[in-house]
Amino acid sequence: MALLQISEPGQTTAPHQHKLAIGIDLGTTNSLVAAVQNGISKVLTDENNKAILPSVVHCGKNNKLTVGCDACPYARTDPTNTIVSVKRFMGLSYKEVKGFKNCPYDLVEDGNNVQFHTAMGDLSAVEISSTILTSLKQRAEKSLGGELTGAVITVPAYFNDAQRQATKDAATLAGLNTLRLLNEPTAAAVAYGLESGKEGVHAVYDLGGGTFDISILSFQKGVFKVLSTGGDSSLGGDDFDQLIIDDCIETLKLGDLTPTQMQRIKQFSRIAKETLSADSFAEFHCVEAPYRISKTKFESLSKALIQRTLLITKRAIRDADIAIEDIKDIIMIGGSTRMPLVRKMVSNLFDKPVLSSINPDEVVAKGAAIQANLLAGNKPPDDMLLLDVLPLSLGLETMGGLVEKVLHRNSTIPTTRAQEFTTFKDGQTAMSVHIVQGERELVKDCRSLGKFELRGIPAMVAGNARIRVEFQVDADGLLSVSATEQTSGVKADVTIKPSYGLSDSEMEKMLKDSIVFAQDDVKARQLHETQVEAHRTIEAIDYALAKDKSMLDEAMLNDILDARSQLEAVINDKDDKVIQDKINNLESSSAKFVEMRMNNTIAKAMQGRNVKEFEE
Ligand code: AMP
Repeated sequence: MALLQISEPGQTTAPHQHKLAIGIDLGTTNSLVAAVQNGISKVLTDENNKAILPSVVHCGKNNKLTVGCDACPYARTDPTNTIVSVKRFMGLSYKEVKGFKNCPYDLVEDGNNVQFHTAMGDLSAVEISSTILTSLKQRAEKSLGGELTGAVITVPAYFNDAQRQATKDAATLAGLNTLRLLNEPTAAAVAYGLESGKEGVHAVYDLGGGTFDISILSFQKGVFKVLSTGGDSSLGGDDFDQLIIDDCIETLKLGDLTPTQMQRIKQFSRIAKETLSADSFAEFHCVEAPYRISKTKFESLSKALIQRTLLITKRAIRDADIAIEDIKDIIMIGGSTRMPLVRKMVSNLFDKPVLSSINPDEVVAKGAAIQANLLAGNKPPDDMLLLDVLPLSLGLETMGGLVEKVLHRNSTIPTTRAQEFTTFKDGQTAMSVHIVQGERELVKDCRSLGKFELRGIPAMVAGNARIRVEFQVDADGLLSVSATEQTSGVKADVTIKPSYGLSDSEMEKMLKDSIVFAQDDVKARQLHETQVEAHRTIEAIDYALAKDKSMLDEAMLNDILDARSQLEAVINDKDDKVIQDKINNLESSSAKFVEMRMNNTIAKAMQGRNVKEFEE
């Protein structure tokens, strides 16, 4: 999603009014909370001085809930009741989750949703996530010493609306006011202050414990935009651990291992890997024998895995339609970017040094805290806020299957815009409001987001009703549409998630199509508009004939009826000029009749009044 910098007017607050706002990195493996204190963004630690909260939740017997470090040992001893990596389940349906490999949980179908069957009962991913958020909230309240105004929570750039909504729901359940959801790569860019003046394209390389993500962001004319994303959801630090595990088993010629022995090798291998980021050798005792690995050996084993991330990176650059030289900064996030070879190979690919001065585990939470501090209004008005922009236009279906855009693509959000519409038929008392998304001119080429009906419109002549349709998009991209008939006050509304289920590539296709078909669309729109005009002309003439046919002599009547039939015969023609010709023909045939009706109306209005009255 794209972001725009603006200053928020009138939001200055005196120091004594400082509001407590936090940034939360709700990660797959680990979560963190940060806040701006004395102008500096800092991560907040627990009573053991630990900043990282493992995203692990144990739902034990007798409603005993354990979150974080204390829950980790249960992953081995009580795996079905210990939810690890709940983020992978957020916003997904039962069908989608069923496809997960090696899933140790007892999953229950709950309508379209999925629940974890645990010793504490059936719990949703939102509920599990909310326990992690509650733990971070309590930590922040204790550390900052007061009630929180709100939080900025980060989500992966590729998260769809359902996943974003699920994250917001988890926050609400934890009693947190979500000031905004922020894309993780954007938060990292904010932590490095990339939005303060530097226009250009940046890459955010995120190698965590179990996943790899690459995002290409552009920052231009005050707007942060995600140009492309790529990644591998099963490539991360664990795979580097596996290289050492495999090497250890091979070197020591270990045969069948008990689960406990295997677990120990896993633990030692991870420690060895982390040691090798600083030292030239690492060793541990495994199944009574010593194992030793050099940094050189580990790096030669690691090359192929890193190479895989580079291939994905190159693909993302291609998808963003830019040259590698165009990338100004490369931000490294995720614990695995501490490996020197990762930094070296990424730096070689871009042919420039990478940004890694901020702790790669903390950078996202720190960026989120900076945004939270601004959104809470703790900064002077000349400081910048990041706002989202609409990725695709939002509009309404009008007569003839045409789209009337109400909010245009790239409008900054939150935003509100109203437009007035009217009725098409005499005595029309209901109106269907069909909301669509996309750049094309015809409804059939856009995405239908929802429909609702406005009923109880007072019966009026076509075109007299004034129906105000208001589109409102909140800071997280959620759309509400309301329609109000102005004279009677009759109202109907609906709330919609505009990009629900729309992937980046689908969005891209919609944008590309709008360019490719631009000329065809203009023609199609013209044709539809002319057809609507033809229908309107026929209806008007039918209405007039029904009322005042008696004014016409036979020749005039036949002339009008003939022109009417000619128009009716071509109304579905593919050439708008042919239809327009016949509309003009009917209009000229009936011009005299229109004039006679007008004179008649004036004469009726003047009856019983003297000329002076009218002159006054
Ligand atoms: P994250 O998911 O971002 O918290 O990253 C966790 C991953 O980072 C795990 O695989 C860790 O082993 C790895 N990691 C943490 N510190 C280091 C280090 N110093 N060297 C190599 N990998 C590390």
